[in-house]
Amino acid sequence: MENDNFQTSGNPAGATVNLADLNPSQREAVTRTEGPLLVIAGAGSGKTRTLVYRVAYLLEQGVEPDKILLLTFTRKASQEMLWRAGQLLNETCRRVVGGTFHGVANMLLRRHGHHLGFGSSFTIIDRADAEGIINLLKGSLGLTGKDKQFPTKRVLINILSGSVNKSIAIDDLIYDSYSHLSEHARDIINLEKHYKEFKFNNGLMDYDDLLVNWKRLLDEVPEARKEIAARYSHIMVDEYQDTNLIQADIVRLLACGHENVMVVGDDSQSIYSFRGADFYNIMRFPKVFKDTKIIKLEENYRSTQPILSLTNDIIRNATEKYAKTLFTQIEGDQKPRLFAGRDEREEAAFVSKKIAELRGKGIELDNIAVLFRSAFHSYKLEMELNSTGVDFEKRGGLKLTESAHMKDVIAFLRLRVNPCDTLSWNRILLHLDKVGPKTARKIADAIAGGESPGQALSEYPCGKTWAQGVAKLAQLFKDMERETGPGVLYELVWAYYQPLFEKIYRDDFPKRQKDLDQLKSIVAGYENLQAFVDDTTLDPPEIAKGLSTDDKERMILSTIHSSKGLEWDAVFVMGLADGRFPHAAAGIGEQWEEERRLLYVAATRAKQYLYLTYPRELMTPDRQFRRVGMSPFLSELRAGLFERIDRDGVERSGPSYLTAQSSLSSTMTFPKKAKKTKLSVKELKKGVRVKHPFFGEGVVNDKPKGRSVNVNFQRHGIKILHLDYAKLTIL
Ligand code: ATP
Ligand code: MG
Repeated sequence: MENDNFQTSGNPAGATVNLADLNPSQREAVTRTEGPLLVIAGAGSGKTRTLVYRVAYLLEQGVEPDKILLLTFTRKASQEMLWRAGQLLNETCRRVVGGTFHGVANMLLRRHGHHLGFGSSFTIIDRADAEGIINLLKGSLGLTGKDKQFPTKRVLINILSGSVNKSIAIDDLIYDSYSHLSEHARDIINLEKHYKEFKFNNGLMDYDDLLVNWKRLLDEVPEARKEIAARYSHIMVDEYQDTNLIQADIVRLLACGHENVMVVGDDSQSIYSFRGADFYNIMRFPKVFKDTKIIKLEENYRSTQPILSLTNDIIRNATEKYAKTLFTQIEGDQKPRLFAGRDEREEAAFVSKKIAELRGKGIELDNIAVLFRSAFHSYKLEMELNSTGVDFEKRGGLKLTESAHMKDVIAFLRLRVNPCDTLSWNRILLHLDKVGPKTARKIADAIAGGESPGQALSEYPCGKTWAQGVAKLAQLFKDMERETGPGVLYELVWAYYQPLFEKIYRDDFPKRQKDLDQLKSIVAGYENLQAFVDDTTLDPPEIAKGLSTDDKERMILSTIHSSKGLEWDAVFVMGLADGRFPHAAAGIGEQWEEERRLLYVAATRAKQYLYLTYPRELMTPDRQFRRVGMSPFLSELRAGLFERIDRDGVERSGPSYLTAQSSLSSTMTFPKKAKKTKLSVKELKKGVRVKHPFFGEGVVNDKPKGRSVNVNFQRHGIKILHLDYAKLTIL
């Protein structure tokens, strides 16, 4: 169970919230209901719990539930928190407005978006859709072709989205972080203009637009601001360290009338800067709200002392942080364990064996989690668990709606709510025999100008060879226009799409069918098609991977990013090898520090048992095997904070990792000892050509400062790398 330590059995209706369940600082954060409040505290100190109690307390004080706005990082988190608040008080808590910034933006924009020229049936697009539009536009603006060397759609979306989320102008962002693309700056800015126009004309909004337009509503439309700001009298935000500047502005504008706003966060757990999150938002909060009361929580209620000692030490080495000290009263005799497998297979076998042992000790499967840096790091373990019959649920991996066949089906449903969505028309019209992009565009234009898609399609002057295909599609839309129920609509789409599906995915359609079955059961749970379409984009379901799909107890495999805020009795952190963690592309500086915080987030999820594992051999992108050492973040830790388990399973109670390290194979490399690979600063003069295993070839841009070198890579732009870790070679 995640975050189950509430130690309260729930109150009958009308009973008072038991504030004795809280420590004095937490209690103050709950009962100080007026004015701005910042709770800044380390992991497991009860920040989320405090928010839950505060929701219940506010309701008990007579605040109307729909006047409370609870903003969280995932939809699931807000549902869970409101459910817990309900346990403390009563069912009223369900009526509190809770969700992610994007979810609430969606709700408000459907109601008030007309002020900005948006209809209420706009469609939200995901990243793949956005990249699809960029590709279409690249073609129509003549930016494709080998000689052009124009950036890929992926890089372009990174730039456009980066500029929005970091609140930096596109050209500034290019000159700062993509200077190798500066010759394309004008074209990129022009492309962005067309991208915006395309979205507007087709009734589409990407994730960033949801935030930008929410802020615009509050900033630019006094009428909407008045109405929206008056709606909520108490605003609360969890995980504030992972908000970006736009979100901070939204909070400021929402609270401007009353300033009853409470944010909680931990700068040491900020892990989303790659999406523009800026943990300085926490530091800035007291400046934005002048009378902010700052509350620090210092007791950790989650982890045992040995686990807390190790996690405190991970973050001790961080270069920038709010000073926080955490203590716990939970004793524990087991130090975190470290295991190095010969390769990934042995690492997976170890995890699987330990899971069996933990279950033998009475730990339930759903109280165990395995966490990793990137979704693919768990593949070997998934195979192992499948072969040993352990049920698991994977989070943070591929999303159900990311594959082509799922996008196909969803495109029909999206068109039922927004017939202007050319992107979806393009997708389904191109499936018709003899219909190419040009014809598809013409048909989509005709539909946009027509009365209804069914009508427009049936009146379209088709060529002989493709008339029959269009007629079938016209019939489908006519049938769909008569229906509103998501389940029935899905059946209609499926009846039309099935033969196409079996033809397009001739080789593997039975495998893909499983995803569609999962989608079908999800659709069946909705009464409103718009809600289904929104949710699949805003909060896309994961592909079911484990053995069973019923409600059986199962363990969690999760990327660290998706494990935020949660806790389990036993946690494994896998793949802690040099080059894998930190991520090979991390460079040094801010990205390096973010990787350190990521490890901090992972390790602080553990209550009683923490296992850190890594393989000593990794496959490189060119399919070579390479010996690797442990992550530099582990070798930095102080002696005696964990114990090593030998490959034969013996737990060495020796005092320090230093003993463990010296007993390892002599071929292993440790980052700080890898003398042979170290380059000297003198060799790296400006203009020297170098090679990096991940970034490829580049040129030293500036002479090294300390042991940091500034390199301009042909494909990746400027990176600052640390000579001790970067594995640079001179060409
Ligand atoms: P994170 O930074 O990881 O999000 P957090 O600060 O939000 O952590 P919570 O998840 O709220 O911490 O709390 C961690 C655990 O400690 C939970 O199981 C919670 O129920 C428990 N806890 C917090 N405060 C108390 C308390 N005063 N008494 C008993 N248990 C507590
Ligand atoms: Mg929390």
